[in-house]
Amino acid sequence: MGLTQMPPEVPVLIQEGALFVANHSGGKDSQAQLIALLNIIPASQLLVVHASLGRLEWPGALQLAQDQARAAGVPFIVARASKTLLEMVARRHETRPEVPSWPSASTRQCTSDLKRGPIQREVRRYAKANGFKTVVNCLGLRAQESPGRAKRQPFKKMSISNSVTTWYEWLPIHDWWVEEVFGCISSAGQRPHYAYSLGNERLSCVFCIMSSRNDLRIGAARHPELLAEYAALERRTGYTMHMSRIPIRQLTEIQEPAEALDGE
Ligand code: SF4
Repeated sequence: MGLTQMPPEVPVLIQEGALFVANHSGGKDSQAQLIALLNIIPASQLLVVHASLGRLEWPGALQLAQDQARAAGVPFIVARASKTLLEMVARRHETRPEVPSWPSASTRQCTSDLKRGPIQREVRRYAKANGFKTVVNCLGLRAQESPGRAKRQPFKKMSISNSVTTWYEWLPIHDWWVEEVFGCISSAGQRPHYAYSLGNERLSCVFCIMSSRNDLRIGAARHPELLAEYAALERRTGYTMHMSRIPIRQLTEIQEPAEALDGE
């Protein structure tokens, strides 16, 4: 499986010794992206980074990313935020109860504060420690996933570039279809995260603000305690977590156990 539309800048950056950072959520697209990158980038110029969402992400996601990196002989780092999504929501409710407490699909503070920020911090540290002046941040986003993602430029210079480090963003599998992603993984003799065999379409937080009902229901069936925490925080803040504005219990069709309601 190749990278059909490799930007002309990429071979030059490989030649010049840039650091290619494979962002890895533990999901199928990250996994396929890393397989594809390993075909063209020397392992010495690759780094795999996982932004950990702690117990809010699907169990095994970090492990899958780590195992894939280790098997390929590529360094692996974990970027952790100083707070969890639920802490972020609770804090926002305490300081500004009049505005929606949960991240929205358009602003997505969860992605910026819990993933992008910590990843950039850790990559900057790694690049400095290992003498890299150019970073190519690779994301497994695909055009097929949403109109917003379809509009993303597959390659661009990032505005966080400064006099010390030049950053580029590259979407190596932007034009891939989902069948190509799963095909790439099985051709490499690997298996995707087990949540896909449960029927999940995507993988990251068990309950994402943008998840499909399908994924929310699968997450709820496997993680009822986590569902109870999200539902309790929805009640406490008076706002719903999901972008549809439908309460999580209604979306998942799993009702509160009677004793929990009695105890309130
Ligand atoms: S998976 Fe969804 S809820 Fe979790 S950090 Fe990403 S956008 Fe936010």
